[in-house]
Amino acid sequence: MARCSEYFLRLSSGYLFPEVARRTKIWQERNPGRPILRLGIGNTTEALPPSIVAAMKHKIDLLSDRATYTGYGDEQGDIALRKAIGRRYSELGIELGMSEIFVSDGAKSDAANIQSIFSQDSVVAVQDPSYPVYVDSNVAAGHTENYNEANAGYDGIVYMPATAETGFIASPPSEHADLIYLCFPNNPTGAVATKEELKRFVDYAIENGSIIIFDAAYSDYIRTPGIPHSIYEIEGAERCAIELNSFSKYAGFTGVRLGWSIVPESLEAENAPHGTLNRLWNRRQCTFFNGASSISQAGGIAALSPEGRKECDALVDYYLENARIIKKGLERKGLQCFGGIDSPYVWVSCPDGLSSWSFFDLLLDKASVVVTPGSGFGPAGEGYVRVSAYGHRENVESAVRSIEENL
Ligand code: PLP
Repeated sequence: MARCSEYFLRLSSGYLFPEVARRTKIWQERNPGRPILRLGIGNTTEALPPSIVAAMKHKIDLLSDRATYTGYGDEQGDIALRKAIGRRYSELGIELGMSEIFVSDGAKSDAANIQSIFSQDSVVAVQDPSYPVYVDSNVAAGHTENYNEANAGYDGIVYMPATAETGFIASPPSEHADLIYLCFPNNPTGAVATKEELKRFVDYAIENGSIIIFDAAYSDYIRTPGIPHSIYEIEGAERCAIELNSFSKYAGFTGVRLGWSIVPESLEAENAPHGTLNRLWNRRQCTFFNGASSISQAGGIAALSPEGRKECDALVDYYLENARIIKKGLERKGLQCFGGIDSPYVWVSCPDGLSSWSFFDLLLDKASVVVTPGSGFGPAGEGYVRVSAYGHRENVESAVRSIEENL
């Protein structure tokens, strides 16, 4: 008889967002007619910028004519898009070869799949709290032991706590790790890392022969001068870091789907010469993936054009203003807030020693506001909730007002 993967069975069942949805549904059934104010999931809400829409419509016109129709493209992505991504890095002083850029259908798939080119016995380290995909994809791939209820985490994973004392920036682990997942600006805490803070991880990785997987999905939200937008702004990172990025939060592509990964030729691995990891990722993508949608890629090229960049920056500014409104409002209420400056997420300390889920329930009950419990992002997220700035301005303002008036 067929057997299920014992690794997938190992995944703890209570995935965060279904549980948020379950509790919200119960609340709605008990409170018919009361409007629900959602500041939970990091899903974009504003319309696509006009130059992107025009480019995608034009691509559809080309596809609708036999003379200009195109089918499969390069698995690694349209060369025009890769060049545009390359120019974006050049502006940061980072020169990439076209063979180092891989276009994808988004950063989530890349974050989940990248572990597959590394050895089965790789020791994985994650910031705690962190975007759940890093942990879950490694659990499903058999790189961990079982879930440990007592520790609220998986055995065999190295958790690097990111706490208020250190501005929610973790320290490199004291033990050995082969793969280190970092995300800045951080989901869920909204923290950003300085060059010095990232350099500690790059130094650790070079010293320990580790590879950093740097998720920069929110890099375009950085407005504070001097904060690095890419791990490759740190000297030596091209030898030890892979970077992932996305058009989702920058251009509103959460539904359109487009992202990219950078796998430098100069990455070092213990059992293979330079360039092997790049070739393995290319092999993996060519075997399992047939390239991102050509319509999305046309939109991506437009998003990186001068006009598109202006429009996308305005879109990001809109969400950043939402974050500012949320943070100011919650602080007026006396809540301790972090992040929300170079990030769409405000990380809020639960008052009166409440747990994440208790504060979630309280906000829902009293203010009709849905947030995300911090404990769902890892053991060190307990005692916090994440408030997301993705929403129409009027809804964000109503939610903040409701918290101020009713909590
Ligand atoms: N990485 C982080 C840190 C995220 O928060 C998200 C989405 O919320 C993603 C990746 C997913 O990006 P994409 O929509 O490109 O798959």
